[in-house]
Amino acid sequence: MTVQQAVGPDPYFPANGDSRYRVHRYELALDYRPGPNRLSGTARINGIAGRSPLAEFVLNLADFKIGRVRVDGRQTHYTHRGGRLRVRPAKPVRAGAAFTVEVHWSGNPRPVTSPWGGLGWEELADGALVASQPVGAPSWYPCNDRPADKASYQISVTTPSAYAVVAGGRLLTRTTKASTTTWVYEQSAPTSSYLVGLSIGKYQTVLLGDPGLGGVPQHGHIPAHLLPEFSRDFARQPRMMDLFQELFGPYPFDEYAVVVTEEELDVPVEAQGLSLFGANHVDGARGSERLVAHELAHQWFGNSVSIADWRHIWLNEGFAKYAEWLWSERSGGRTAHQLASTAHRLLSSLPQDLRLADPGRKSMFDDRLYERGGLTLHAVRCAMGDPDFFRMLRGWVSLHRGGSVSTTTFTAHVARFAPEPLDELFEAWVYGASLPPLPLPERRAAV
Ligand SMILES: [Zn+2]
Repeated sequence: MTVQQAVGPDPYFPANGDSRYRVHRYELALDYRPGPNRLSGTARINGIAGRSPLAEFVLNLADFKIGRVRVDGRQTHYTHRGGRLRVRPAKPVRAGAAFTVEVHWSGNPRPVTSPWGGLGWEELADGALVASQPVGAPSWYPCNDRPADKASYQISVTTPSAYAVVAGGRLLTRTTKASTTTWVYEQSAPTSSYLVGLSIGKYQTVLLGDPGLGGVPQHGHIPAHLLPEFSRDFARQPRMMDLFQELFGPYPFDEYAVVVTEEELDVPVEAQGLSLFGANHVDGARGSERLVAHELAHQWFGNSVSIADWRHIWLNEGFAKYAEWLWSERSGGRTAHQLASTAHRLLSSLPQDLRLADPGRKSMFDDRLYERGGLTLHAVRCAMGDPDFFRMLRGWVSLHRGGSVSTTTFTAHVARFAPEPLDELFEAWVYGASLPPLPLPERRAAV
């Protein structure tokens, strides 16, 4: 586990998250009616005060009607404005002490608006979908919305029985009463608020591959009419799982689910133990297979090893991009070096004003960050050689499992595995803006 590093507000999203306390568990009980798009919920949140007594604290929650707020069972003063629920306990919580806050809320959930479109809870033609990266989580539940504040989750959703509910984590119980069914999921691994995914729809569930002894259970939840295309497009996911476990170390969660929604999505989205794809990502010709690899790789890079704050997003996206190239290389497609050359050509034709280490909020999801992030890892691999590079990667995943990291955590980690210092490489690729030359794969040996 890593010590949480972020102190003070997130530089890109100062209104999200409160570093004066942390949460170690959320228990969410939700009731959702898809027709009227009506959500009501109760959250029990177990928090721990930081180094100072906590006279007040903030939870992020969109514009819902608040029914009650209690701290340690006692009625509490609060204000709710601009997506921030400011809670003032009757008595300050002592420094370092545990406390429980209970919030009841209800209303019509809708996405949080952002420069990247709506984020979070989205009502579909027949169901709902939650994809929150980076700041959509408050669209549906009260949370300390910063990626480094990771907690376990229990999520209970009651909805009409015609719908299936898929959340990341293990399905504990499914209980039908009259016309509704309650689904209870447990995610025991430390989870960032934005990575709590949810999908409510009419799905058929299939098992992918054969989990066998010690294998990772992998399920698909898809509209029945997309089953033939899905079966072909996701057929190689179990092989990807095997490859990534070989290259990165054991899969960090108990199971992995993919959902394909009835509707189109701009891009697939990762959640903890779960990835969400649109109907447009399924074509029966494996046209989006690199994205299947990309989303799976986020389970290691981004979900298990998380970023301390959003400046470090290349540690999620560059690694997931490089995993696409590794999958291609190891499954009979183009090699990582060929893909790196293509990415390098593309980047050399585009403006060179983006710094991986701190790209700025508006460039967080710029394609150039993904490509340059993948190229940076390729440069590290070329400089280190395969045995040291993959030892370094596996060490990164196991040392920081369940924790949060920054760019400097990564450069210091690499230094422990590299045969010679790579300061100049990082200076050029991570901190500089102009594009360094394509690295030469001279020191590479077979993996
Ligand atoms: Zn990604």
